[in-house]
Amino acid sequence: MILTDTHTHLYSEEFDHDRNEMIKRAIEQGVSRFFVPSIDSNYTSKMYALETLYPDNVFLMMGLHPTYVKENYLEELAHVETELAKKKFFAVGEIGIDLFWDKTFLKEQQQAFQHQIQLAKKYKLGINIHCRDAFDEVFEVLESERATDLFGIFHCFTGDFAQAQKAIDLNMKLGIGGVATFKNGKIDQFLHEIELKHIVLETDAPYLAPVPFRGKRNESSYVRLVAEKLASIYQLSVEEIAHITTENSKAIFGI
Ligand SMILES: [Zn+2]
Repeated sequence: MILTDTHTHLYSEEFDHDRNEMIKRAIEQGVSRFFVPSIDSNYTSKMYALETLYPDNVFLMMGLHPTYVKENYLEELAHVETELAKKKFFAVGEIGIDLFWDKTFLKEQQQAFQHQIQLAKKYKLGINIHCRDAFDEVFEVLESERATDLFGIFHCFTGDFAQAQKAIDLNMKLGIGGVATFKNGKIDQFLHEIELKHIVLETDAPYLAPVPFRGKRNESSYVRLVAEKLASIYQLSVEEIAHITTENSKAIFGI
């Protein structure tokens, strides 16, 4: 069985004391494909080190995270462009709009998002979207860039059924993680109405651990708990969920 964690921050400081054990634990559980989103330039060298250490398991994305869009965002975008030109990445991400923490840089976040979508198209890559309290704003940018070569994943999808359909209509898959196991997570209530071909699994480790680890540090091996939840929602085996969602991830990342 091969499970794919389509969004995991393996380089996070939270894993500094046991990163290799954590990665090995995941691989033993069948979670052997890790797609690692970028946040800003501070983490780039740590990402490359992980890729060197686990060339068959770790696949990197490049991008500027919306909550890191600050005064220096043009410099950060230049870094993204330089790195994309330098080597192979498997998506542009994580990118998007986040109005939960701070609305000060909304205009800059919109610009950075659109610019990075255009970079993804240039390199024929998918995008990995971070959207928090900003569905209208994210959809506005996506609509303006709507095209057959715009595709990707709505990471940690937290919208309603209508927003899910809208995302799918824009060539996006829904990244489903720990929230699907929460009692008040809402997503589990309509997920059965979404065809499984639109779903990929993720943890967003070290954040958003699934039940029974809610509130604790999340790690990639827990993607299995998300797969178990989907198995009960879709009335399929965990193996079938693993197979279908891994195939879906290949369609986005090209590997
Ligand atoms: Zn993330």
